[in-house]
Amino acid sequence: MKIAVIGTGYVGLVSGTCFAEWGHEVVCVDKDAQKIAGLKRGVLPIYEPGLDELVVSNVNARRLGFTCHLPEALKGAAIVLIAVGTPTRAGHGDADLSFVYMAARELAPHLEKGAVIVVKSTVPVGTGDVVEKIVGSIRPAGSFSVASNPEFLREGVAIRDFLEPDRVVIGVEDDPARKVLTALYGPPLEARDTPIVVTRRRTSELIKYAANAFLATKITFINELADLCEEVGSDVSELALGMGLDKRIGASFLNAGPGYGGSCFPKDTLALLRTAQDHGIALRLVEETVTANEARKRRMALKVMEALGGEVEGATIAVLGLTFKPDTDDMRDAPSVPLIETLQRFGARIRAYDPIGVENASRVLSDIAFCDDPYECVRGADAAVVVTEWDSIRDLDLARVKGAMKQSVLIDLRNVLSQAVAESLGFQITAIGRSASK
Ligand code: NAD
Repeated sequence: MKIAVIGTGYVGLVSGTCFAEWGHEVVCVDKDAQKIAGLKRGVLPIYEPGLDELVVSNVNARRLGFTCHLPEALKGAAIVLIAVGTPTRAGHGDADLSFVYMAARELAPHLEKGAVIVVKSTVPVGTGDVVEKIVGSIRPAGSFSVASNPEFLREGVAIRDFLEPDRVVIGVEDDPARKVLTALYGPPLEARDTPIVVTRRRTSELIKYAANAFLATKITFINELADLCEEVGSDVSELALGMGLDKRIGASFLNAGPGYGGSCFPKDTLALLRTAQDHGIALRLVEETVTANEARKRRMALKVMEALGGEVEGATIAVLGLTFKPDTDDMRDAPSVPLIETLQRFGARIRAYDPIGVENASRVLSDIAFCDDPYECVRGADAAVVVTEWDSIRDLDLARVKGAMKQSVLIDLRNVLSQAVAESLGFQITAIGRSASK
């Protein structure tokens, strides 16, 4: 099948490349000429492990191409995937759908007869109906379909998530769309017995938000339990282990930390709340999750200040890890940002290390001494704070860290450093969800 993918960000580029890997002919389109020029030279606009090799091999096999010219991409395409951003609308909380609607307006005149427009972007219930109306105002009804196919990949493991998903969700309103999408996903996923959930468009759109809100709630649940653990002398990691081994609960998303961030959970929980409000429905658990998570992210700076005796004015603080999670360069809504900004407001000097995220971090943070190496970062620091659990941070040689720092204060917001080793070296270590010495 020939597939056109509109938007070559984390989702569009990974989806397009993986469809090519499955043998389809894929053209990825983006408005950003610099991105497309880079991709044509084999330079990726994002960091995603394994993606560059997969792009190169599919380009060489002539299954994958890139262009800024939409009509060229749509020529002969049976499927047109919309994978543009749906960020939070500034000051409102709902999803900004302008990129989706713009893509719909732009693609309509060039659409092949019978083509299926697949909305892969995360969009509120009813967006597919609007896309259908926009395209239908230019093209005759019945000559195209609009389907929903939300994406569940996680940055950092996106290729595996795409090629080996837990499930695929397809939302359709007509038979041609159902046939095309089951033909797209069915054969490559057959061997793995991957469930394909075929439903109506509006249910499919809501599944994505429900899944993300549930995961955000699970994270917030364990984070609140971590606070209780600190007060009562329990250990949240062991608590999570004891809970998570129950198959009804499951172990994933039970790692206590500084609060969830990233390009999806914060914006998707807000957008879901806005949809619920618009329909007069109270999603109280999700409301509490959003409030608790925001407060938690801000509170992490206080944790650092407490570890330094309540004052950070003039102190040098080494921040280890900046991206919202390891193995990505994505800084959107990263917990490191409110942490650093608050510490700076209280007069701290910040040094920061991240193996991949510095370029994106330098666009959202200022007055920071960025370091290429974690040991260089902690040199002369009064405290070091683990914010993102990159392998290079998990595997730190704490004796070397101790030798480089001015004061021996560690704050581990991801519970990845050994408390026993740190304490034996004379560090004062604060972790999440456990008391100072166990
Ligand atoms: P992104 O911001 O990384 O990429 C979006 C791309 O679309 C940009 O390159 C932009 O230039 C391009 N674009 C915008 N309008 C265009 C147009 N009219 N024509 C051509 N190109 C256009 O976004 P992303 O992180 O890939 O997210 C895309 C969607 O997928 C969002 O709705 C997001 O919520 C959802 N999603 C993201 C993830 C994730 O982990 N990033 C996971 C699942 C779902």
